[in-house]
Amino acid sequence: MPELPEVEALSAFLDDQLVGRTVARVFPLAVSALKTYAPPLTDLEGRTVEAVGRHGKFLDITAGGLHLVVHLARAGWLRWRENLPAEPPRPGGKGPLALRLTLAEPAGAGFDLTEAGTQKRLAVYCVHDPAEVPGIARLGPDPLGPDFTPEVFAALLRGERRRLKGVLRDQGVIAGVGNAYSDEVLHAARMSPYKLAASLSDEEAARLYEALGATLREAVERSRGLAAGLLKAEKKSGLRVHGRAGQACPVCGDTVREVSFSDSALQYCPTCQTGGKLLADRRMSRLLK
Ligand SMILES: [Zn+2]
Repeated sequence: MPELPEVEALSAFLDDQLVGRTVARVFPLAVSALKTYAPPLTDLEGRTVEAVGRHGKFLDITAGGLHLVVHLARAGWLRWRENLPAEPPRPGGKGPLALRLTLAEPAGAGFDLTEAGTQKRLAVYCVHDPAEVPGIARLGPDPLGPDFTPEVFAALLRGERRRLKGVLRDQGVIAGVGNAYSDEVLHAARMSPYKLAASLSDEEAARLYEALGATLREAVERSRGLAAGLLKAEKKSGLRVHGRAGQACPVCGDTVREVSFSDSALQYCPTCQTGGKLLADRRMSRLLK
């Protein structure tokens, strides 16, 4: 799933490609992806793109006062195309194509939104104001925003009874961090994903704040200037523990471990994060009984 750094890079890439150009056609192909009906997507046609931005993990393309907002979800992606065929794509196909947007000029340029797999979660909205999108309205502060100070972060953690892993990826608390970067931030901060947020000392809250900013900024920096097609590989290559169970921790050499849940998994380094202790994995302990 693309998270803040990848969506930030996609947004910068699209800003270069789209701003000042006119939308020719918008083809919604996956009915399930379209979450709004008024104004219709066709209202974007003939409008000139003014800006491309990001709200958490949402991409926001502004054209003539309308916003095309996209949430790529777990398996969605954006493919930039220079040579799209002139004829419209066939709707209702079984393929991964969810939406196509073409530009008036240069002819053939535009992008496809695609979604792999059978779980269709990719979401597209056409609105006058991004705050009309419920997922954007409930977003917490952006961790790279100028107002996100150590004090703001400490206040978010205070009184928070949940574990750090859950708090960091809750979009209502902090915008843009998901399963991958929450693993990375906790590894960089040398903290257990199971630690209760409210139990952090002032020193620990400051350390987690530093790790959060540094991890996201590094990832944004690595992704900057990359074409849309290269972002996925770049995200993977920059991760230290996420998705690396069984491999050596690049900091201490211990084996990266995993805890599995019904629909996700977290990875961590015992030596760096839990004082060498293995976190309970219900699936594993069932197997060992
Ligand atoms: Zn380690």
